[in-house]
Amino acid sequence: MTYYLISLTNRCNKSCDYCVVKRWRNNPDYPDRITAEDVIAFLGKELKENDIVELTGGEPTLFEGLTDVLDCIHGKNAKTILRTNGLRLGEWRKKYGSMIVILAKHDSGAEYMNERKKLLSSCDLVEDDPSKIISSDSAKPDFKVDEASPANWHKIDRTFFVTADGNLRFMPCSERSWGNIIGLRYEREQHLCFEMHKCPYMLGAWNLAARLSA
Ligand code: SF4
Repeated sequence: MTYYLISLTNRCNKSCDYCVVKRWRNNPDYPDRITAEDVIAFLGKELKENDIVELTGGEPTLFEGLTDVLDCIHGKNAKTILRTNGLRLGEWRKKYGSMIVILAKHDSGAEYMNERKKLLSSCDLVEDDPSKIISSDSAKPDFKVDEASPANWHKIDRTFFVTADGNLRFMPCSERSWGNIIGLRYEREQHLCFEMHKCPYMLGAWNLAARLSA
């Protein structure tokens, strides 16, 4: 099973202090380069049934062609995790039964959140306490076993991390580039990491994907 973490865009309509992509966010030195066609070509080559694809940013609903990417994942019977502040979340969410939306409040007001919650499905998750977010652009996420994330193991044995410029790495903690998904110019070797089964990104994704069958 493979886990894909894809940062579709560096653009965002918000400017949270704790943002993990603060350095790249809305920064003209780091423009978006991947298109929906690039992502679909990459996933078309690599994605298998039951794999997990986490789409993030920036704000992923600002990515042109987001629903084309979702259609591609849906067509492969893989699972999607979409992390959003809800900007362009719409009725279209209900079309994707194999998707979990993580709706984060950030500095949005109660009225905005109540409207966005009407668009969610039962498996979706609302993160409405920004004070619990402790990440910074130098910190790795923590993984805590709790009611929302009960499993402390996962079955993921391969990962890809793609940034908005198409650069492909093992995970955000890895500096080594495997190439670029634009034009499918990358190495495809199995990358081993001795801490993989404790990796907070993959544990988080595994627990989120479990919400689909709960
Ligand atoms: S909404 Fe997300 S991507 Fe945008 S600034 Fe806040 S933490 Fe960063």
